[in-house]
Amino acid sequence: MAIHSQCVVLDGKALATLNEASLSARVAALKSRNGNRTPILATILVGDDPASATYVRMKGNACRRVGMDSRLVTLPANTTTQDVLAEIDALNADPDVHGILLQHPVPAQVDERHCFDRISTLKDVDGVTSHGFGLMALGEPAFGPATPGGIMRLLGHYGIDVAGKRAVVVGRSAILGKPMALMLTNANATVTLCHSKTVNLEDEVRRAEVVVGAVGKPKFIRSAWISDGAIVIDAGYHPGGVGDIEHDGLIERCAAVTPMPGGVGPMTISTLIAQTVEAAERGNID
Ligand code: NAP
Repeated sequence: MAIHSQCVVLDGKALATLNEASLSARVAALKSRNGNRTPILATILVGDDPASATYVRMKGNACRRVGMDSRLVTLPANTTTQDVLAEIDALNADPDVHGILLQHPVPAQVDERHCFDRISTLKDVDGVTSHGFGLMALGEPAFGPATPGGIMRLLGHYGIDVAGKRAVVVGRSAILGKPMALMLTNANATVTLCHSKTVNLEDEVRRAEVVVGAVGKPKFIRSAWISDGAIVIDAGYHPGGVGDIEHDGLIERCAAVTPMPGGVGPMTISTLIAQTVEAAERGNID
């Protein structure tokens, strides 16, 4: 085992706190330009999943910390697709709302893709619409999904350039793994996107100079698979503050590691807030 003397801890919590100061100043400037009208991030929460309720509460608190407002639309678990679409239409038409979030996952009877695609691209601050996703994939200006977007901001803040590096992303969900692979590709990494049908995942991870765990299984990626000197990003989150990567010994021999907790999670919320402020600054004007 090589000792890597200068492992950089990618402190998402500290960066998110740092970002809040400049976001607060931007919100204050917006309000003074707009007759004191407060920008709003609206969230639609369908059903009663306690984890989703917690995430929504955290996002609302983060809005208020920078002087924005949040608006919560709660719908019962038996809500139909049409009900959700009607709420989205109302929020799209409301000039006070600058960002719209439909909290994932929605109950099975709701057509999530259809609902996501109803969100105005201008208010799609979590990059969930097909159009917004396509723009992001093409490297055009767009709000990408907040979690991979937050990871790219974190890497950028610490001056980590992934260009030319072999990156392995484990997990290909639409909100995390797939856009992560595209963002890394757009940043000139050479990317392998792994999933449940990948053969010899361990070998793929061993070859990686950048590893992103986005698999949704606690400590699924073993520390022994990770090469000395790698940049390790753990996007997973499980009860007890455990991620998708086993962290044992990584800090002694890797180039950079996200702590768990306090790495990717705070950057997701910070990115969402930053993208909502940006949408408000643009004034939702086509
Ligand atoms: P998801 O939708 O369940 O996707 C999991 C992915 O992992 C799928 O692509 C799946 O492959 C892949 N996978 C499952 N078993 C595998 C295996 N044995 N080998 C290789 N790949 C496998 O999860 P998600 O929503 O992307 O979330 C992933 C993790 O990130 C979770 O821990 C979640 O809590 C966390 N998360 C954190 C934040 C944050 O803000 N910190 C935000 C979002 C998610 P298939 O496609 O083949 O099924």
